[in-house]
Order: sequence, then C-alpha cells, then structure tokens
Amino acid sequence: MSGPKPKSWIEAIHAYVPGKSAGADGRPLIKLSANENPLGTSPAALAARAAAAEPSRYPDPDSKALRAAIAEVHGLDPALVVMGTGSDELLHLAAQGYAGPGDEVLFSRFSFSVYDIAARRCGATPVEAPDADFGTDVDALLALVSERTRVVFLANPNNPTGSYLPRAELARLHAGLPQDVLLVVDQAYAEYVGPADDDGGLDLAAAHDNVLVTRTFSKIYGLAGERVGWGTGASAIVDTLNRIRGPFNVTNSAQAMALAAVQDRQFVDDARDHNARERARFVARLEALGNHGLRPLPSEANFVLILFSGKLTAEAAYNGLADRGYITRWLPGQGLPQGLRITIGTAEQMDEIAAHLRDMAEAVR
Ligand SMILES: *Cc1c(COP(=O)(O)O)cnc(C)c1O
Repeated sequence: MSGPKPKSWIEAIHAYVPGKSAGADGRPLIKLSANENPLGTSPAALAARAAAAEPSRYPDPDSKALRAAIAEVHGLDPALVVMGTGSDELLHLAAQGYAGPGDEVLFSRFSFSVYDIAARRCGATPVEAPDADFGTDVDALLALVSERTRVVFLANPNNPTGSYLPRAELARLHAGLPQDVLLVVDQAYAEYVGPADDDGGLDLAAAHDNVLVTRTFSKIYGLAGERVGWGTGASAIVDTLNRIRGPFNVTNSAQAMALAAVQDRQFVDDARDHNARERARFVARLEALGNHGLRPLPSEANFVLILFSGKLTAEAAYNGLADRGYITRWLPGQGLPQGLRITIGTAEQMDEIAAHLRDMAEAVR
C-alpha cells in the first residue's frame, strides 16, 4: 500500500470506547454506562445557555469569567486555572507537555483508559503498576518510577473501580516522587466525595511545583455534552498547558453554562446527596443477594463496579440488563471481563436493576 503511514506509536493505540446508549439492535436503552448525572443539568445552567454569546462570534479564548467563577468557588488564583475541552484535553496536554518518545508515563492497572492513549499519543511508553485488590497501590506505583518517568496519572476516585486514595496516601505518593515528575490528580469525581474526606489534591497543587489537578463539568454538573474541564497547578504548569491547548477550546455555550453551573452549589449538593443515598441503597441490595458471587467494590464515585464470580457472569448480566432496557458498561477491553460498571441512576432505576440482577442470578443458580 502507498498512502501516508501513521507514526508507529499512533498505530499502537486502541481507540477509547465510549459508553453505549443503544442496544445491539439499535433500540434506545436507559443509559447507565457513562457516569452521567441522572438529575440532568442545573436549571440555572440551562437558562444560561439561551443567554450565551452569539454563535457567529469566537468564544473568549481565555474563558475569563468562567475561570474567575471557578477560582472563587475553590479559593484559587484565577491565573492558576486552565480550561480544557473536557478534562480529557487537559490529560492529553499534560502528557504531551511533559513526556515524549523514550519517556515513561505511569499509572495504575484498572484506571482510566485515556491515560494509556495519552501516553502513546505523544510517543511515550505507558507503564502500568499492579493494583491492590482493584484499588491504587502507592508502593507499586513508586516501585515503578524510573529515571524515564515524566508523568504519573492518578484518578481519585478512580474510574472504573470507584476506589479512593485517602489524603495521607495521596500525600505519600507525591512525597515519593522525584520533583521533576508531574503528578496529575484526575478529580473527575471529586465532588461526589464529602468535604470531610477530601484527598488534599488541590492543596498539593497549590503547594508544589509538580502537581496538576484536573476537574470536569461532565459528571456532577451534568454538562458532559458541553465539554468543559479545568485544571490547576503551579504557574509554570498552567503556562505549559495554555501554550498547547486549542486557542478557542471552550465554546460560548459551554462557558456560559459552566459559569452558571459552578455557582449553583445547591444543585451540586443535591446531586451528591442523591448519589450517596442511592449508591448505598444499591450496594446494600446487592450485598443482601447472598451467595451468588456478586461483589460490589466500595465506591466513592457515581457508579459501582460489580465483580461476578458465580454462575451469573458479568457478560450475561450485561446482556440480560440490555434485554431489560438498561445499558451498562461491561469491561473486557480493560482487563475486567468479570466486571460490570453501573452508573447510579434514579431510585426507581437502581431498584429495578437490583431486582433484575437478583432474578438473573436466581435463574442460573
Ligand atoms: C469522565 C472522566 C473524565 C472526564 O472527561 P471529560 O473529558 O471532562 O468529559 C476524566 N477522568 C476520568 C477518570 C473520568 O472518568
């Protein structure tokens, strides 16, 4: 074949697999596969969409008003806030800004699948540390730091497991890294964690030169479709990301909606409360199923990963739930063929799913 040949490291990438929203036959299903907010979007944000700047005009390249609002809510210097087209853009920029061919990008097994893509996209070598019973193993990560390590990614809470590294462990991970290694703390689900259990990521980012925290409007704020994320870290890091980000990377509507959303703290509190309540109820119902081999992993996020070790397999549960109208996330491509990740939906949805899982488990016992 003639024609242009992609770089070898690009050819090695397995494209990100998004959560599905329809069954194999194209039938629309209730979507609990992408960790979206079942409560939708803040009404204030929806109202702000109508008042957004004209689509014929380029957006503010610096998202100035939005950055000021984010900084106000989180007690940050707006100059140290950098915006992304989703936090996804920022994860890629972090890898691209600090790693390249010959360098290593380190993360845990069973963590966010974008880290592997981000590492390969810039020609760096992805390095996976073993997990500790599906959670992050700080010692295993530190043991794999080499003189080639340039970036360490940590999702906290982690996707797809829901596991959470407490403040002291995150501090220990940071303290064990060389100062010239960038630690990216991906806090996509941080708003689901109560303030008392804060992991201290923002404090680390404020106090050190080698920490970037990323956040997103896609999850608790219910703005996944608008693609807004932000990050904060030392000014040299923010400067690096600003040099290489898209110049108009947050649209007019996204800036307007995210600005209203970040100021609607009631919506965020309600979503956190709903999630904590329904997650606990769902897990309790699964645990009450008895000896069917379903193990819900402890989760601090807006989803639960269930491991299947009995007669009912994760694949059969995935297909059975799809037959009953629910699309969830089966994870064979992430090394978890025994795992089904289910986003916390409404109370009625979670009751129905728990009942379906019980019926399916009893039918094959
Ligand atoms: C959903 C998610 C993101 C957010 O991606 P966006 O690009 O902001 O929509 C980032 N990290 C993790 C771990 C996620 O699960």
